[in-house]
Amino acid sequence: MKDLVSIQQNEKSHIDIDLSMIALTKEDNNDSKPKFLSIKQDKQKAFRIKKLFNELPVMEVLKIRKPQVYKSNFLCPRCNDKKETINHLYKCSKADNDVLMLQRIAKDKLIKWIRKSEKFRNIDELIEELFPFFKTTKQLQRFTKANSDYYSNFDNYKFRQEYTYIWNGTHSMDDILKGWIPSNLINILRKYQINDNKKIIRSILTKWLGKVNILFFNWIWKKRNDDTIAWEEKNGITALVKKTKTSSKKPSRSKSEERNTRKRRITGNKKATFHVIDEELYVRIRRLFGFNPNFHQFLDKGVTIFFRILICGESNLY
Ligand SMILES: [Zn+2]
Repeated sequence: MKDLVSIQQNEKSHIDIDLSMIALTKEDNNDSKPKFLSIKQDKQKAFRIKKLFNELPVMEVLKIRKPQVYKSNFLCPRCNDKKETINHLYKCSKADNDVLMLQRIAKDKLIKWIRKSEKFRNIDELIEELFPFFKTTKQLQRFTKANSDYYSNFDNYKFRQEYTYIWNGTHSMDDILKGWIPSNLINILRKYQINDNKKIIRSILTKWLGKVNILFFNWIWKKRNDDTIAWEEKNGITALVKKTKTSSKKPSRSKSEERNTRKRRITGNKKATFHVIDEELYVRIRRLFGFNPNFHQFLDKGVTIFFRILICGESNLY
């Protein structure tokens, strides 16, 4: 896992780390939040954290974790054309239609919430400016000056952004799909606010990121997993093979986790525990949290509490 400080200092300077972390602690779009997460929500949240920290078991990660099973020449199980990284999940040709569907729903949601808030002006203009944030870099490649000039010659297309937009090479949906909130997205929204109010933007965007995550989980990740299972069966990678060929020992359980397991046994309430996060990620976050002296300064209170809960294994966050 890359550490957050270096992410902020290097290639990720265009994202809002604080808000992205806050978004991680938000659950779903329901105002009536249940006290504990359902198993489904747990899964979605674990998916979200792993996606954010590059920990999803995509082929390139599996090759490192289980080199005896996943050979270095293995490609994406869906398209068999490119290496399967997290970015590839939404760039894969097999996901093209689902990505379009995801984008349509995500766009409608965000615009609906913006309108409903009644806190923004010139909304049509705002929507135009948000255009690249609903598209991936892969899709945006075709929005060149040459293409725009070409379509501008036809009256049918002249006024349609879908044909005449020219991409500036920076804004896109890529970071959003991975769980990061781009700073520019916040800046654009602020520009159109009737009264400058960060709280409203914060609330809309964190909610939206949760929605995008659920869409990603349902439309892309689940289907990818189904395809991967089929691919593994075809290639003789069974559960048994995966088990017997794994050489690394499972790390022993932490005290807090044992405590939680005991607690669960006593209460008999499975939903009351936070267990979907796998041990490896858990250890890494703890390491990150413990060894990086500057880590705290990038987090606000809510985020710190979230990580503390993640690290200490407490379950009553919600
Ligand atoms: Zn692919």
